[in-house]
Amino acid sequence: MIYNDFNGLKLSRLGFGCMRFKREDNGEVDQETVNSMFRKAYEAGVNYFDTAYPYLDGKSENAMAEALKDYPRESYYIADKFPGHSLPGPIDNLALFNISLQRCRTDYFDFYLLHNINEWSIKIYEDPEYHIMPDIFRMRDEGKIKHLGFSFHGGPELLEKLLTKYEGEFEFVQIQCNYLDWTLQDAKKKYEIITAHGLGVWVMEPVRGGNLARLSDANTEKLRKLDPEASTASFGFRFLQDLPNVRMILSGMNEVSQVEDNLKTFKEHRPLSKSERDTLFEIAESLKSGVPCTQCRYCCAGCPMELDIPYLISCYNDYKVSQSAMSSMRLDGLDDDKKPANCIGCGQCAHACPQGIDVPKVLAELAELYETGPKWANQAKSRHEAIKRDLNMG
Ligand code: SF4
Ligand code: SF4
Repeated sequence: MIYNDFNGLKLSRLGFGCMRFKREDNGEVDQETVNSMFRKAYEAGVNYFDTAYPYLDGKSENAMAEALKDYPRESYYIADKFPGHSLPGPIDNLALFNISLQRCRTDYFDFYLLHNINEWSIKIYEDPEYHIMPDIFRMRDEGKIKHLGFSFHGGPELLEKLLTKYEGEFEFVQIQCNYLDWTLQDAKKKYEIITAHGLGVWVMEPVRGGNLARLSDANTEKLRKLDPEASTASFGFRFLQDLPNVRMILSGMNEVSQVEDNLKTFKEHRPLSKSERDTLFEIAESLKSGVPCTQCRYCCAGCPMELDIPYLISCYNDYKVSQSAMSSMRLDGLDDDKKPANCIGCGQCAHACPQGIDVPKVLAELAELYETGPKWANQAKSRHEAIKRDLNMG
C-alpha cells in the first residue's frame, strides 16, 4: 500500500468510500459483502474509511461501523460529514453530530467535513441562524474532530475566497478530480488553489462514478495497447497518484473484485509515462463530445439576463458525460435567476460567438435536462424528512 504523511499521520493513499455499498431488495445494505471488502482492504493496509450522514439513506454509517468492529479503533481513521446542505431549517447541530458518532460507534472523528459546499449551500453554512460553523469549530476544539475539512462542488472563485476567509480553520478540501474533470470541472485550478493555501487535496469521484472505468471499446483499446494487464480504472487512479498534493483518493467500492483491482493499483506508485498521460487526455477530449465553447466570454456582455453562459455550457457538457446528481449540483449552486431556464432566446449571444454556437438551443436543452434529470433538489426533501425523524422534530 502506498502511504503518505499528512500532518503527522500515515494515511493510506487509497481510502474506502462508503456511499456505494450494495443493497438488498429490501433496501438493507448487503453487510456480508461490506465485511468481505473491508477485510481485504484493511488487511492490505487501507486505513481510511469515509462515510456521511445521508449516504445510503443513513445506513452507511452503521454498515461501516459494523464492518470495522473487530479492528482496534486506533488502527484506522474514520471520516464523516455534516449535511449542512440538506437541513430542513436551523436544527440542533450537536444532536445531529452525536447521532453520527453513535452510528459510527465512536466518540471522535479522525476527519470531519462540511458536506457539499457550493455557491448555494455556503449561504446556509454561514447563516448565523443555522450556527453551523461555530458548532463544528467547537467540536474540533473539544477534540471530537481531529482534522477538519470540507467537500467542495463550487467554482474556483468561491474556493479561493473561502480558503482566504477561513485561513487556519481547515486542513483539507475534498474535490471531484480525475483526468476528465481536470479540465471539464476546473479540477486543475482547484487543486492549485488548495495547494497554494497549504492544505491537502482529498479526491472524490476518481473514476467519475465508474464512467472512466467503463469506457467505449475504442478508448478501452487505446489503454489496452499501453498495458494489456491493467484495468481501465487503474489508469485513472495512477493519474491521481502522480499529483503530489493528492493525499487521499476515495473509491466508492461495492464489489470484492473492485477492491482487489484497486489494491493492485495502490500497491506501488507507478508514474504514468508521457504516452499514457497523453492517451488519458486524448480520451478525456473524446468524452467532451459536447459544445466546443472556448470560454472566451464574448457572449456575456450582451446577455440581457446576465447569465454566465460559458459556465452553463460547461454544465451542459458535464451533463452530456453523465447525468448524475453530481452534475446537477453545479446548477443547484446558482441563484434561481441565473439558471438556464431564464434564457429568453433573444439570440444576442449566438451572434457574438466566434465558434458559431447556437447558445439559446443549448441552454433550452440544458434547462430541460435539469428539470428531468436526477436532481439534488428532489433528494433534498427526503433528506429533510430523515433529519427531522432522527431528531424527533415531528
Ligand atoms: S439567448 Fe439567452 S443566453 Fe443568449 S443573450 Fe439572450 S438571454 Fe442571454
Ligand atoms: S462566445 Fe461562444 S465560445 Fe465564447 S464563451 Fe460564449 S459560447 Fe463560449
